[in-house]
Amino acid sequence: MTASANGRRRVVSGMRSTGKLHLGNYVGALANWVKMQDQYECFFFVADWHALTTDYADTSKVKENSLEVTLDWLAAGLDPEKCTIFIQSHVPQHAELHLLFSMVTPLGWLERVPTYKEQRDNIAEKDLSMYGFLGYPVLQAADILIHKGEMVPVGEDQVAHVELTREISRRFNQFYQLQGKSVFPEPQALLTRTPKLPGTDGRKMSKSYGNTIMLTDPEPVVRQKLKTMVTDPARVRRTDPGDPDKCPVGDLHKIFSSVETMAKVNEGCRSAGIGCIECKGWAADALVQILNPMQERRKKYEENPKLAWDILEAGSAKARGVAGATMNEVRDAMGMSLTPSLK
Ligand code: SF4
Repeated sequence: MTASANGRRRVVSGMRSTGKLHLGNYVGALANWVKMQDQYECFFFVADWHALTTDYADTSKVKENSLEVTLDWLAAGLDPEKCTIFIQSHVPQHAELHLLFSMVTPLGWLERVPTYKEQRDNIAEKDLSMYGFLGYPVLQAADILIHKGEMVPVGEDQVAHVELTREISRRFNQFYQLQGKSVFPEPQALLTRTPKLPGTDGRKMSKSYGNTIMLTDPEPVVRQKLKTMVTDPARVRRTDPGDPDKCPVGDLHKIFSSVETMAKVNEGCRSAGIGCIECKGWAADALVQILNPMQERRKKYEENPKLAWDILEAGSAKARGVAGATMNEVRDAMGMSLTPSLK
């Protein structure tokens, strides 16, 4: 059975409900999603259950965070007419399939996922020795396969997760068949180019480093953050030449500035013809140009959040329909259909 009725390949992807998004989230995933919605049949979900794998102890902000993520998606240009936007926990079939997948997934597969050990070591302030944390790649597999996702947009560090989804799909298909046919596709990783986006301190942009530029930051805040952003350490004095390739502000220019501005930055920085303050002003101009229309679009939903909830509700209803059909096939294949007969 093909996943998509309209001939377009089906893409499934989610984002944890961590609240308002920053430029790193935009460049790393969201900007791509906005492009993909014209090309593929896209299912994008707010992964609120995934947020619990690390933030299980305090769930008071989960719902609010889901809304904030959705507002930023809509602001960035995701269009509910073109793609399906929903909340993971509103489609309980994700959890049902997760349970069934957890029956057939060997523990060793999960323990060798590179991000498992890395995150357990890095997030020292939380106790992550939880079953849910170990099993989150199984939930990811269920997220994708419940909608029969064929393509999963990922950065290179996520390829191992898609590989695990493919392995779980293969294992399920080996055990259980539906009239001699496989229930699940083996989704492909759709490798997305994610340019390096530094935060204001030069490290990777991340909320936990406190170095973010948020999609909702008003212009004066963006300009102020840029002013304090680190630059090429070789430019100690105004007269010292610099190198945009060694400067986090240069990285921002590469992503957001026009070819003309980039040429001015290259020339002016390397010859010490411009100062960093001027250069940062140009970078701020480019960012504001991107962020202004997003913030304009966001306003409508901020003033009337029900509009966004309605979109989520309609998307979740559609997703439940697709997921329900998949679960019927899964139950049939496993000989556990809901019908009272033994067939
Ligand atoms: S002139 Fe621009 S690119 Fe060069 S070091 Fe200063 S901020 Fe960075």
